[in-house]
Amino acid sequence: MRIALFGGTFDPPHRGHLAIAKAAADALELDRVLFAPVGRQPLKLDAHSSTYIDRLSMVMLASKHDHRFQPSSLDAPNPNGKPNYTVDTLTLLRALYPDAALFNLVGADSFLALPHWREPARLLELAEWIVVSRPGFPLDSIAALGLTPQQRARVHLVESVHDDVSATELRQRLHDGDACEDLLLPEILAYIREHNLYV
Ligand code: ATP
Repeated sequence: MRIALFGGTFDPPHRGHLAIAKAAADALELDRVLFAPVGRQPLKLDAHSSTYIDRLSMVMLASKHDHRFQPSSLDAPNPNGKPNYTVDTLTLLRALYPDAALFNLVGADSFLALPHWREPARLLELAEWIVVSRPGFPLDSIAALGLTPQQRARVHLVESVHDDVSATELRQRLHDGDACEDLLLPEILAYIREHNLYV
């Protein structure tokens, strides 16, 4: 079994996320992509973000679109309120799937922040990484990270064909009254409206 963890705030999940997950699943022949909204992202502790339950609910809707996609509550908020660290999530995933080939799926912008994550070297041991390009973050920029040849061999680069779209820009546009139909699935837009998000 080949399984990728796809963590993120998913506030909200957008077509860019789906395009990345599909590109990665095709390129690496993945059996499953686990869309796991993060409880509290240590590098993005934004008090104004949507609740975990809303983000997980939207991810459930988004992951219906490909038989390889699955929503996951693996990165649910810690009961003690501490931030979620990917090193802990991947350790848990390894315990759940001892024999699987594990991957961690990220955009190139996230991967470039790896030195700021907890235990970067361990993170590269726990899973292979799939890094997808993003406008402004070309794949050759990862050379700046100075990975060892062994670490570099565990990183797979995938060119994404999707235009740039960020949740930050989407939230602003929704707040301004734009329906963003080009960037959001209709059922997610309906969820956002029903629950009065990003008003
Ligand atoms: P925000 O603007 O709030 O930071 P985001 O969409 O970048 O939103 P997340 O929901 O946390 O943030 O993204 C989850 C993962 O998807 C991250 O690894 C991010 O790099 C990646 N990602 C999101 N959008 C794109 C995109 N358009 N191209 C490539 N990667 C992306």
